Amino acid sequence: MNRTGFVYDERYLKHITFDGHPECFQRLEAIVAGLQEAGLMEKLVPIAAEPANQKWIEAVHSIHYIVRIEDACLMGLPDVDHQDNSICRDTYDIALLAAGGVLKAIDQLMAGRIDNAFCAVRPPGHHAETEKAMGFCFFNNVAIGARYLQQHWGIEKIAIIDFDVHHGNGTQQIFENDSSVFYYSIHEHPSFAYPGTGRDFEQGSAEGEGYTLNTPILPGRGDMDYRKKLTTDMVPAIKRFEPEVLLVSAGFDGHSSDLMSGVNLSAEGYKFISETLMNLANRYTGGRLISVLEGGYNLDILSSLVADHLKVLIEQ
Ligand SMILES: [Zn+2]
Repeated sequence: MNRTGFVYDERYLKHITFDGHPECFQRLEAIVAGLQEAGLMEKLVPIAAEPANQKWIEAVHSIHYIVRIEDACLMGLPDVDHQDNSICRDTYDIALLAAGGVLKAIDQLMAGRIDNAFCAVRPPGHHAETEKAMGFCFFNNVAIGARYLQQHWGIEKIAIIDFDVHHGNGTQQIFENDSSVFYYSIHEHPSFAYPGTGRDFEQGSAEGEGYTLNTPILPGRGDMDYRKKLTTDMVPAIKRFEPEVLLVSAGFDGHSSDLMSGVNLSAEGYKFISETLMNLANRYTGGRLISVLEGGYNLDILSSLVADHLKVLIEQ
């Protein structure tokens, strides 16, 4: 049994989006209730979150952008950059706490106190670009974690695997010229899928060419396509790259009952994804894996998908 860390903080509920917004605080309430019900809480190592030091946010985002988010919250504006990115007065502080939660999990991992971790944080991060809030995301939690691993813990090579059903345009943009962070995303595309990026010919540029790998999945497809693609493109790519740590953008919005996508993954399909990730971690990174919540909007199914994900992290 692994020592699996669990990052959660009640303050994550204080990022209040507008009524009816899919990225609502009830998502985390559902996850926590589901983990308690499944008897998993006592098997997890709780990790307390702290706000990230601004210097680590600056490792990814410009000061100008950071201040823009802070000012928008102070002024009581309803959103940043697009009406999707709903904010309240506390959003800036909670976004720092979300990134900071990931950094705390990394500290525990690198100190050898845990084997892997899941970070139940919000707001999510993978759509946030260097200078732009997008898709409910403000600070790119996983990208900040990658830079922290490199600059604070001296890790050279990191792979980020993003199985949220939407393309992590932010993470791709942040690392597209960088050969030290390999970015893999499997997501719905084409059709109307948000954000519209992540075509298979987007493979990074300059020094980063070949270090971004996008796997589009057609709407209506599900477990079989994921199984085939993950086995034939992700696994060999990670084997070639030889990362020292795996970071995961964990989105559960590709489930057939989640209205945010046209992809039809089942709970079994998600279990396969989790098992494949843990296989890779056990084989290439000494088990070091930090998984960070991104999407997942059907409150009836989200908690059981997260519970299944955590079972694999604990047991495998
Ligand atoms: Zn998503």
